[in-house]
Amino acid sequence: MVRLAVVVALVATVAACKTRDRHSDAGTLPSRAPETAAESPRPSPIPPGKSPPPPGFVDLSDVDSTILLDIRYYTDHNFVGRRIDGYAAPRCLVTAQAAQALHGAQRSANAQGLSLKMYDCYRPLRAGEDFKRWGASLNESEMKAEFFPSLSKSDVFRGGYVAGNRSPHSRGSTVDLTLVALPPKPQRPFVKGEALVACTAAVSERFPDNTLDMGSGYDCFDTRSHTTDPRVTGPAKQNRLTLRQLMTAAGFRNNPSEWWHYSLIADPFPSTYFDFPINP
Ligand SMILES: [Zn+2]
Repeated sequence: MVRLAVVVALVATVAACKTRDRHSDAGTLPSRAPETAAESPRPSPIPPGKSPPPPGFVDLSDVDSTILLDIRYYTDHNFVGRRIDGYAAPRCLVTAQAAQALHGAQRSANAQGLSLKMYDCYRPLRAGEDFKRWGASLNESEMKAEFFPSLSKSDVFRGGYVAGNRSPHSRGSTVDLTLVALPPKPQRPFVKGEALVACTAAVSERFPDNTLDMGSGYDCFDTRSHTTDPRVTGPAKQNRLTLRQLMTAAGFRNNPSEWWHYSLIADPFPSTYFDFPINP
């Protein structure tokens, strides 16, 4: 009887995992399963089918569903050119404190006709290991033309653009983000193998992201990405300053080398680096 019960439990577990896989294959939008919403009288903060983040962490979409997501390390559109280890779902997981602060920044952005759009949030340590493996391989520079047009692969690490070890993102309160004018324009998907344009090119030539012009693309490993680079002027400069003002007021500090990178000053895990994967 005991053995039968174990077998039954195992079958049930496998079935539950397969259901979860099906949900993850359904698409990349952070959506709730419709049948769940219909059955449940009150929306649950963690709908069935979505794995709960560990204690202290939340799914940003559960705190503020209006914040846009474009989780690049889940896609092929990043400096490596493929999905990064640990990113099994296009979710933005952050600490509860970071989520509340981002919710505040989003309300302030909305008052200016803008929305936050997240490129990266919590990042498992294993993603940094993946970056290091990529850095050590001699080939795999297929995305150089867009993301590091003026650098060699080794310079990407030497210049501090890519953290192979213990990125602050792995503490859960550091995010990469930009601003989008409301209502958001549609954005075409990146097609692996498409012709690449340097992230330092004029906004009219770069990949057609639906964001405000920030003077360089996301993860553009170039000094033009320094938040106050003097070559970035006019609206692009103003847009960087608007993002910095919104995020500073919400309690974040900018990395001056990357206009998109912000860390919550009151970090609840100032010396803890996490490695749980981002699951569907
Ligand atoms: Zn970052």
